[in-house]
Amino acid sequence: LLLKWQMTNGTSQFHLLTLQPFNKLKFIFVTSGVVSSLGKGLTAAALGTLLENRGLKVALQKFDPYLNVDPGTMSPYQHGEVYVLDDGAETDLDLGHYERFTNTKLSRLNNLTSGQVYQTVLNNEREGKYLGKTVQVIPHVTDEIKRRIHVLAESTKADVIITEIGGTTGDIEGLPFVEAIREFALEAGVGNTCFIHVTYVPFIKAAGELKTKPTQQSVAKLREIGITPHIICARCEKPLDKELRQKISLFCNVPVEAVIEEKDVDHSIYEVPLMLQRERCDELVCRILHLETAAPKMAHWQEIIRKLIAPQHRVRIGVVGKYIGLQDAYKSVYEAIIHGGIANDCGVEIVQVESEQIEKEGAEKILQGLGGVLVPGGFGERGIEGKILAAKFARETKLPYLGLCLGMQIATIEFARNVLKLEKAHSTEFDPDSPHPVIALLDAQKKVTKKGGTMRLGAQPCQLVVGSQAGKLYGSFVVNERHRHRYEFNNAYREKFEKSGFVFSGTSPDGKLVEVIELKDHPFYVASQFHPEFLSKPHQPHPLFKGFIAAAHQQIHHKPL
Ligand code: GLN
Repeated sequence: LLLKWQMTNGTSQFHLLTLQPFNKLKFIFVTSGVVSSLGKGLTAAALGTLLENRGLKVALQKFDPYLNVDPGTMSPYQHGEVYVLDDGAETDLDLGHYERFTNTKLSRLNNLTSGQVYQTVLNNEREGKYLGKTVQVIPHVTDEIKRRIHVLAESTKADVIITEIGGTTGDIEGLPFVEAIREFALEAGVGNTCFIHVTYVPFIKAAGELKTKPTQQSVAKLREIGITPHIICARCEKPLDKELRQKISLFCNVPVEAVIEEKDVDHSIYEVPLMLQRERCDELVCRILHLETAAPKMAHWQEIIRKLIAPQHRVRIGVVGKYIGLQDAYKSVYEAIIHGGIANDCGVEIVQVESEQIEKEGAEKILQGLGGVLVPGGFGERGIEGKILAAKFARETKLPYLGLCLGMQIATIEFARNVLKLEKAHSTEFDPDSPHPVIALLDAQKKVTKKGGTMRLGAQPCQLVVGSQAGKLYGSFVVNERHRHRYEFNNAYREKFEKSGFVFSGTSPDGKLVEVIELKDHPFYVASQFHPEFLSKPHQPHPLFKGFIAAAHQQIHHKPL
């Protein structure tokens, strides 16, 4: 039947080639309804944690319906953080959750946007791959979407592929993706796919109760397209009682045990896997997909939660940024700080500091009493001087400082201006005519004219100096870290800096690019040109964050908050 359908519809050949693995491979599709920001990515990632701890190999994938080829050119106001992978892909921040919650290493295959789909289809059309045909959303666009699921399955050799569909069910942009997964399920056969729909069950104050109608309507939307979810994850502020579960079950056509309560977590997003486990979500998924495994081993995860809920120590860390009001702009940074806390059994309160506030009120007023200061990555001039003041305050008062990418460039500019007395020292990104361009464009960037995907991106090796603070923290001499920048330390100034106690503790293996700097005579003043935050997990805290929180904790040890 399937072959006949394909022939009459003229779909591409890959279906014929990929029928075989369907028997073993399992697919989970996560959609969402009612509103955005329900934490669908977290649900997908947390399910990944549980399945991985059941001994399954999991791969997670995100479909984004927007037309940008990748989020690399979007402002944090539009998109939040851009998460960078080893292979240099600039991706959606949900991929950060996937990497933090599981042990999978992701590549550009794990994030597909409408922009990429249409780009491929249009290139195919120009190459003549569809000669004679009218190129259409169905089947050509949907085929390309399905192909990407197969490509991921093939390249990861995973047992289970979890695909999250971005956007909200019913959005025009998202339709080809939803149609594609419907077709995919038909081809994969019963028992090989599981649809999870994450919806919202709002608490209406005036009525004093939770309301299921939006959930019913969003499931109806999904069923219009031909998908009946197997599982409903109901996001809610209050517990979902038996009666409400029964109501959702009845109206949405799912068994009552498939109505999963996903209540707002009390302490940390890392509680979500345990919450799903309590609701038997993973057990149900395994039953639907005929997967026989032992119960997940979650003892280590419980220990993480213990440390988050009742840590032995506490510290406050200031993050000085320019998108501080945005929840998602520094997502991985905030998470990596929390991980550094877990490594030290130390609860971290993150104090979000708007750098322009420092410009107005001075660093001392805003930063005193903190255990440490972190300056994250960034672009553009706004707020730069406030960050420089923060770095100066940290250097002078021996407050632990961690600089990430722009944060390293800021530390360099500050040192040049205030220690080396190089007046008006700056990065050419902010002052192209600076008399002392201590940070300047990378050579490789000089000819770059296009903006999309053209920075120095992804994992690059960095060699550490034996005996340096960074060397000690990592405990190894060559590390691979992820990058996303166009500017670098200007080597013309290297000697001058070195003579005054500025240590170049990490460089590219050929010694040409400065990767890590630190200060002598300071308890912790370390900054990297790369982004260590992208490689930190709650169960594998990054060494630089671990060291930073340890230093911050020590710093305030004798100074009560
Ligand atoms: N704007 C700086 C550069 O391009 C820093 C980039 C960043 O912090 N990611 O080099």
